Amino acid sequence: MLTTIIYRSHICEDVPVKALEKMVEAANSHNRQSDVTGILLFNGTHFFQLLEGPAENVQAIYEHICRDARHHNVVELMRDHGPSRRFGNVGMELFDLRLHDRDEVMQQVLDKSTTRYQMAYNDRALQFFRTFVEATEKANYFELPPADAWDFIPEETAMSLQPEVVAKGADCSFAFQPIVDPFMQQVVSWEALVRTPSGGSPAAYFEKLTADDIYASDLTSKQVALSMASALGLQSQTLSLNLLPMTLVNVPNAVDFLLTSIEANGFVPEQIVVEFTEREAISRFDEFTHSVRQLKSAGISVTIDHFGAGFAGLQLLAQFQPDRIKINRDLIANVHNSGPRQAIIQAIIKCCTSLEIQFCAVGVEKPEEWMWLESAGISQFQGHLFASPRLGAIPAISWPEKKPDF
Ligand code: C2E
Ligand code: MN
Repeated sequence: MLTTIIYRSHICEDVPVKALEKMVEAANSHNRQSDVTGILLFNGTHFFQLLEGPAENVQAIYEHICRDARHHNVVELMRDHGPSRRFGNVGMELFDLRLHDRDEVMQQVLDKSTTRYQMAYNDRALQFFRTFVEATEKANYFELPPADAWDFIPEETAMSLQPEVVAKGADCSFAFQPIVDPFMQQVVSWEALVRTPSGGSPAAYFEKLTADDIYASDLTSKQVALSMASALGLQSQTLSLNLLPMTLVNVPNAVDFLLTSIEANGFVPEQIVVEFTEREAISRFDEFTHSVRQLKSAGISVTIDHFGAGFAGLQLLAQFQPDRIKINRDLIANVHNSGPRQAIIQAIIKCCTSLEIQFCAVGVEKPEEWMWLESAGISQFQGHLFASPRLGAIPAISWPEKKPDF
């Protein structure tokens, strides 16, 4: 199958532009052997390359290109399939935009095209060429420092050095993980994540419950979360609790139960954030909004969790605006290398900004993910990069520290 990949990248400072011709020559013969053709645009700082050919060969060459030390900030913009090559003449041709008149450059690129028909005006690849040549998207090219420009060293505190607490006699336990604002070096909230008493996953905990028990157990477990948080001295912090949307609908007097537990453990409702996954919320929307109103009237904030993971995210947002959304790891993973993820996250940020909804990124594991997200305007993060959940205890947090030589 004929596959097309388009990416954009940034030339490394120490690469002489003259070396490019040699590089392209080598690529040309290598690509030819793999039956991969294409075109490479260069504007003095950025590369823009289209590769086309058999799927496995294009992929292998693209992986090789990604590892090339002569460029960085490689972002995949498009991956598509088509009936014929757009640039079938050579293994790789270099097109230096600086040597051409800007008004004519697009036509000159098109002149190199080998499609039987003039490239369709609405062809996505062609539109990517146009935006690159005209530099209309340039504000979105975030030039990130290398991943090792920052140190992430866990910082123990009086809280993290406390002994672990155990929920005696309870059928569940909780791990705690912070949502952090790295530049302010502040914890925004502590999320309590349910565990089996021995530290097993939420799935292992819910697995043992019958369908009838799930909602009641989900609610009563929050009493355990609050008492553990209290034993760990989190009374002056914000605490995030996860609930199935239908827990508040199906369990009678659920909100009252929560409020009683909050007060009994020395918290006030304004410190509590309830996180809901979007899935069930949309299928029984009216009942869900009724419960949300009760929470909000009591002073509790509401977050939509796993935003972007399900099918209903945007539709839910049209009907109901929470205080905060958490962007799911599925969208966050390798965002620094992915044009589509970048576009979606920028759209979510724009949407939340217009609606004055706070947003945070969940599942941040790599420094590059964090750097891209920070450049895009996200300031709150949760993920192993900063702190992993710790059973019955407060983890040490790794605040990013710029290395002196960067
Ligand atoms: P969640 O609310 O999105 O919680 C964050 C999950 O992401 C946690 O998984 C956490 O361990 C994981 N995580 C955090 N940082 C990273 C990272 O950098 N990389 C990766 N790959 N994962 C990271 P966990 O603890 O297994 O929880 C899974 C889900 O179970 C939670 O997702 C939440 O939806 C649900 N859950 C947890 N506690 C409760 C609860 O008390 N009630 C209900 N109904 N659901 C709960
Ligand atoms: Mn959550």
